[in-house]
Amino acid sequence: MHSVRTSEGAIRREEASHREAAALLRALAHPVRLEIVALLAQGEACVCHLQTLLRKRQPYISQQLMALRDARLVDDRRDGAVVYYRLAALDPEPLLGWVRAELARQRRALPHVASLATRVEGCPCPRCAQAEE
Ligand SMILES: [Zn+2]
Repeated sequence: MHSVRTSEGAIRREEASHREAAALLRALAHPVRLEIVALLAQGEACVCHLQTLLRKRQPYISQQLMALRDARLVDDRRDGAVVYYRLAALDPEPLLGWVRAELARQRRALPHVASLATRVEGCPCPRCAQAEE
C-alpha cells in the first residue's frame, strides 16, 4: 500500500500557506473589495478616484483599501499629496483571471461601470482634473 510520509515541518508549512490563502480569500469576500480589485486589475488609482467611481464615502473606501493592503493584495505609492493604490506584486493569476472575466461581464451588463482610463465626472483627483483642462 502506498503511504505518504510527511515531516512535521512540511505539515506546518502547508498549514501556514493555507492560513495565508484563507486570509487572502477573507479579504476578497466582500463585494466592494472585489469591485476595487477588479478596477485595480486595470492599473493604479487614488482613493478619490475609486470613491467617485464607486459612489461611496472616502473613509469607507480607505477602510476597504486597508483591508486589501493588510492581506497584501494591494500596494500603495505616494506621489506628492496623492497616494495611488495598485494590485500587489504578489499576482494571484488564477484569481485575477476570474476578476478580469467578471469585470468584462460587468461592463457588458452595466454600461455605466467605467474603466479606470475614463475620466470620472466630478472626481477631484489629479488625473481627472488634468484631463478637464
Ligand atoms: Zn479621478
